[in-house]
Amino acid sequence: MENSSDPYFERRRKLVEQLLEEGVIKSEKVKNAMLRVPRHEFVWPDQLKHAYDDIPLPLGDTNQTISAPHMVALMNELLDVQVGEKILEVGTGGGYHAATLAVLTCPTLDSPKPLVFTIEINRRLVEFAKRNLSRLGFDKVVKVIEGDGSKGYWEEAPYDCISVTAAAPRIPEPLIKQLKPNGRMVIPVQSEFFEQNLLLVRKDEKGEVSTVNMGPVIFVPLRGEYGF
Ligand code: SAH
Repeated sequence: MENSSDPYFERRRKLVEQLLEEGVIKSEKVKNAMLRVPRHEFVWPDQLKHAYDDIPLPLGDTNQTISAPHMVALMNELLDVQVGEKILEVGTGGGYHAATLAVLTCPTLDSPKPLVFTIEINRRLVEFAKRNLSRLGFDKVVKVIEGDGSKGYWEEAPYDCISVTAAAPRIPEPLIKQLKPNGRMVIPVQSEFFEQNLLLVRKDEKGEVSTVNMGPVIFVPLRGEYGF
């Protein structure tokens, strides 16, 4: 993917350079993942010309958006994914963020079984993301599930990392339960003043949970049982 046959490579490289200069990308592994995943393949076709602008983009008429690249990079830095780790993503959208997580946990993209489980409530987006991920060869590592991710996904739990890409009223209890000891979760949570903050939630080896507020963010609302 990282070659001259990709007409967008230069624009992607510039975006990554900008995120490095801004200090959003800090690690070599997140830099590589952002360089490797072609965001233009995950945007709605009418947004192609904005694929490498650092802004969220609408997903057709679904009222949902694909996250801005700096948010994907920031969340990936906070998760500090190690090779081989099992990951749950809540809110697949077009599948872009899931693809970057796939590179982080399995850089060869050739895993005997999926390591990234991404759950999406909107059927049209499930189909869209599945098509995008399989066309680009991410489908060995990423499994897309249709359902209510506010409850997590017990079938594959527990997870080393959980990435929630829609804002919740509070941290859903099932997600905490589905985190392994030494696991990390990033999740936007909306306060009573309608302000959203990105939380980094960590569970230590004894199962003790701690939360750090990483600052204000803007996400679409999480729906479902533990959502709005
Ligand atoms: N991760 C995406 C961002 C998607 S936006 C990216 O790569 O850019 C958030 C997504 O969460 C939307 O597609 C929305 O449909 C989905 N969503 C909202 N509530 C959900 C729920 N309870 N379970 C699963 N998906 C949900």
